[in-house]
Amino acid sequence: MTLSFDPAALALPHGHYIGGRYRATEGGLALRRPSDGRAFADCPVADATVVDEAVQTARAALKASGWADVRPRDRVNVLHRWAALVEQHATRLARLEAVASTRPVGQAVTADVAVSAEQIRFFAELADKEGGDVVPTASDHLGMILTEPYGVVGAITPWNFPLSIAVWKLAPALAAGNAVVLKPSEMTPFATLQLVELAEQAGVPAGVVNVVLGDGPTTGNAITGHPDIAKISFTGSTAAGQAIMANVSRGGVKPMTLELGGKSPQIVFADADLALAADCIARGITYNAGQVCVAGSRLLVERSVAPALTEALSRAMAHAKPQATWDEAATYSPIISERQLNRIESIVAAAVAQGAEVIVGGRRFDGDGYYFQPTVLTGVTETSPAVTEEIFGPVLTVQIFDSEEEALALANHPTYGLASGLFTRDLSRALRITKQIEAGTVWVNRYGRSRDHILPTGGYRNSGVGKDLGREAYKANRRQKSVLIAL
Ligand code: NAD
Repeated sequence: MTLSFDPAALALPHGHYIGGRYRATEGGLALRRPSDGRAFADCPVADATVVDEAVQTARAALKASGWADVRPRDRVNVLHRWAALVEQHATRLARLEAVASTRPVGQAVTADVAVSAEQIRFFAELADKEGGDVVPTASDHLGMILTEPYGVVGAITPWNFPLSIAVWKLAPALAAGNAVVLKPSEMTPFATLQLVELAEQAGVPAGVVNVVLGDGPTTGNAITGHPDIAKISFTGSTAAGQAIMANVSRGGVKPMTLELGGKSPQIVFADADLALAADCIARGITYNAGQVCVAGSRLLVERSVAPALTEALSRAMAHAKPQATWDEAATYSPIISERQLNRIESIVAAAVAQGAEVIVGGRRFDGDGYYFQPTVLTGVTETSPAVTEEIFGPVLTVQIFDSEEEALALANHPTYGLASGLFTRDLSRALRITKQIEAGTVWVNRYGRSRDHILPTGGYRNSGVGKDLGREAYKANRRQKSVLIAL
């Protein structure tokens, strides 16, 4: 069966999904397809009343279903069934993803859906293995750490990998025995709705997961400020993360996992395998057209190999071709919106006005849709917005260094600290830099996540608080109670 599809003929799920039912809604925010710029659907906006209904539904469902109290193995089995259903419905999920987002349908099947199923299984397998502890105390006492679910978790996700990031939030929260009220990005709600329907088919009780649609200021704020939401799990921009912290603190105190923006460096030393480095760097900035939190957007290269590396990069980045996300052959993504396309263009123009040189790309593609050419800028100044700001587009800046100290000084960004890449054959140097770099992830002689879901992901500094994936994400969905018994 071909994966390619007619976007106008795709049936879209519509409305908030509360208590196992779609809620009829009309109107909302007009959505445009990034691949051709055409308006194609509306996204309703849940106000505080609808959000409260979802939260109360989640609380009631948690109580009535015993989801938090069943044998953990029962939750394991449900999540395994969910993973199998996700695989069975891979085509439908991938198409719903591709129609609204920047994910080409082929990649959505082989990467987003396939990896999501694995990650659901990863968290399922923790549910009956991770527990509390019995701790050393005086022999006339017994000390224990019990772990318990929080209750209702509020999850908010971005548009860049809608399905994957929904799974990063839902799978550990559900495995750990919580209920969830989830708000996907207002630009890409469809695959998430389908994903939650499948969770219910697998046996997650109706109402344990509810999806409310809407924007940040109305729906997002109502979630983060809701007194009955016990924990927040958020992925998005640093600015929104800061707004969420402020909003939460106005009404109370609750734990937050915040996965935020980045401006990640890729450091190449003269002794590196340059062909490997060029390939990794090109993919690290062009995958999803650079709309990846961990996009390797700043190349730092040792002076003697800079000409050879930039030459190899120019070749590696020359082949991007704009093709609609619903075309099975598409590999290069559009930019999510016209607004974001204009922003990328203006950051590149400002860098050029400050003396930067465009050695690859530099402009939007002609034709329909919001496509921007893979772009490499040399001669950038350290204070240029192209170097300091998260562009969230396929734009790589190049800076040159002459020593390890200089490379590190450039690599450690004044605010962000999400990921980093390092290319060298010198093991001691790789370990020295790894220890000194201010980033939540270091990739050595590769760039990008693997399928090792045990490795948590998260940022240092303004790139976030807490972790997604790994055991940490599961543990973060259970709170700890210390018990001391005098015997
Ligand atoms: P965004 O911050 O604009 O929106 C993300 C989500 O938050 C959306 O659902 C939005 O409606 C909601 N939101 C916005 N303001 C809010 C508020 N005040 N209160 C509550 N909710 C609010 O981000 P985006 O443009 O959708 O996604 C791109 C950003 O996400 C980039 O900065 C990227 O680096 C980041 N991101 C980070 C990771 C990570 O793991 N660290 C992963 C993917 C994306």
